[in-house]
Amino acid sequence: MGDLYILNTRCQLTTTIKEAFEGAGYKVKVSEASGVTDDNLRGGAGYTAICLFVNKKISPGQVEILKDNGTELILHCSAGFDNSPTEELKAAGIQAARVPSYSPGSIAEYAVAQMMALAKNTHMSYVMTKMADFDITSLQCLLLENKICGVIGTGLIGKKCVQKISGLVEKVMCFDAFPDNNWIKTIPNAEYTDMDTLLKSSDFISIHVPLLPQTHHLINEDAFSKMKQDVVLVNTSRGEIVHIPSLIKALEAKKMWGVALDVFEGEKKYIFHDKSKGGFREDPDLARLAQFEHVILSSHIAFYTDQAVEQITEKTISNFQGFLGKEPKDEKAFIC
Ligand code: NAD
Repeated sequence: MGDLYILNTRCQLTTTIKEAFEGAGYKVKVSEASGVTDDNLRGGAGYTAICLFVNKKISPGQVEILKDNGTELILHCSAGFDNSPTEELKAAGIQAARVPSYSPGSIAEYAVAQMMALAKNTHMSYVMTKMADFDITSLQCLLLENKICGVIGTGLIGKKCVQKISGLVEKVMCFDAFPDNNWIKTIPNAEYTDMDTLLKSSDFISIHVPLLPQTHHLINEDAFSKMKQDVVLVNTSRGEIVHIPSLIKALEAKKMWGVALDVFEGEKKYIFHDKSKGGFREDPDLARLAQFEHVILSSHIAFYTDQAVEQITEKTISNFQGFLGKEPKDEKAFIC
């Protein structure tokens, strides 16, 4: 009946992926609703593939619906694939593919932008001057060029972050479970260290590790206790890596200069939606976080650049063509 059913991504990807598939002669349908309700999934009946983005999650129980639909492939348009049940899909004979990497510079640039924004109080002065308030008493900034930046995780995105921030700070201290000792030599003012030293030495900390059992709540009360006074923390990796109640404690103790969270535990129901009517009523911790002037929350937006949208679109159609045997299948992109 059709080729691709897109669970509306609520971003530009819906348009670009639809246009790319239709341009290649495939039949595409976009879901009316954006949530992954049973009814919405049933809308994909008769379509070969379902396209899923990070703001959506298919539960193990919903695999039965996919089987009834005749779905043969889940096309994740993200690197992460924790939002579909791999084992259940495998058991049902449904394949799944992802976009293993796209524009790591996009996420790294966003992390650097947030470190700069917090250091230079741009988020504060923007709001104040719109109201004709030009008082600078509360706006003293941080100089970066004599500071240390800690980068946790030096994979694709972490490496880009180190490259970019190394030109702005005096020294970059990196931690990775699998350090790349050849690459680090290419950045004159960067070095690997252990996690404790990074936490104790850094004025800025940027997190770039994947979510794993070992990294779940990696930044917990113990980690905050080791950090320097007036540290800037930026998380663009996965929300569950930072333990929010411990962060709130650190903020209440005035330990942090500022915090930027592009990802946060419990983000799924907020990101890409206007929830301003209800606010954070159902999530007291997020409500508390949002009250701090020097906490910037954002909508998992670090990836969202012209280059990333283009690369995700190209890889998604290439995965589909690989599945159909119309081009070589990239085994690295196929999860099951
Ligand atoms: P990557 O796999 O290239 O790099 C991850 C690095 O973390 C690797 O070098 C690995 O050795 C290291 N690592 C793994 N376990 C570790 C541990 N326990 N302690 C220390 N280091 C550890 O991943 P990436 O593409 O650079 O992605 C980094 C993060 O960015 C991921 O969490 C990903 O989900 C997230 N991400 C966010 C956005 C966004 O829009 N905010 C977009 C894409 C990716």
